[in-house]
Amino acid sequence: MKLSRRHALAGAAAAAAAPLLSSGPGHAAAPVPDKQAPSFYRYKVGDIQVTVVSDGRNTFAFDDKFIVNAKKEEVSAALQQAFLPGDVMTIYFAPLVINTGGKLVVLDTGNGPLAKANSKGANGLFADNMAAAGFDPKAVDMVVISHFHGDHVNGLLTAEGTPAFPNAEVLVPAVEWKFWMDDGEMSRAPAGRMQGLFKNNRNIFEAGLQKKVTPYEWGKEVAPGLLAVDTVGHTPGHTSYVLSSGAGKVFIQSDVTNNPNPFASHPGWHAFFDQDADMAEKTRRRVYDMVVAEKLQLQGFHYPFPGLGNIVKDGDGYRVIPAPWNPAI
Ligand SMILES: [Zn+2]
Repeated sequence: MKLSRRHALAGAAAAAAAPLLSSGPGHAAAPVPDKQAPSFYRYKVGDIQVTVVSDGRNTFAFDDKFIVNAKKEEVSAALQQAFLPGDVMTIYFAPLVINTGGKLVVLDTGNGPLAKANSKGANGLFADNMAAAGFDPKAVDMVVISHFHGDHVNGLLTAEGTPAFPNAEVLVPAVEWKFWMDDGEMSRAPAGRMQGLFKNNRNIFEAGLQKKVTPYEWGKEVAPGLLAVDTVGHTPGHTSYVLSSGAGKVFIQSDVTNNPNPFASHPGWHAFFDQDADMAEKTRRRVYDMVVAEKLQLQGFHYPFPGLGNIVKDGDGYRVIPAPWNPAI
């Protein structure tokens, strides 16, 4: 305290003696791009190389309907407690490119090229950032999909509606495939968002991909080292993964939670996009208790980039401790 006070006083004396700012012309007027570096981040899981590739973010004002069992004021307070603005919610998106050594695997595909245009480049950036990370979409062997929401499947097609990964086998959860391709389910879907999701999925998988997909089951490896795990609730066939190689292991949660603030800190809160909210909460608590107990690293699709961290129990909820940024692999 004394030291910093003495330094502050010395600084004040110096400022009084001589002007701190030169009156000469500055350099800030020169045009500087208002952009970040392309957002991708690599790490190793044993011999497997993972590249987290940002698809961008969506920031929006929310109301009482965003979380069906919490008022806007409660959500605002929770966000502010995490040093975030209380009036808007930000959702991040981060698909993965996994190089198993034998196969190049894309895991989820982001919001797609139409979203990039509609959001003026706030999201739909997966293709751009994947190219910046050095990957050619033609070189992708497999695309694995966790569930059939637009932010995960829309990047399967180009802006022209053709397959974005022309040489890849597309693997989808069998339960998810059955649900969204069922005409009865589609006819019974509530108007609005659910019908829109059915329409979008039919457009992608029927018109775009001509139904050329391979359904996969839980409890099996969908790609070398990538085990599919049942984490239903968010959607009927929602899937997470355990990626392992040698001593390395990471739990890839998909949408078990959305942004951990407020959904990990408040696991009982039901966002409108959880299709079976009670089941989603059960799954969330079961998965997070498991990763806490096993001290398992977790990768979150909707976490702030790059979305790798560990989970600790914190009161009735959970807290994420992000993994330190590693400047070299
Ligand atoms: Zn999602």
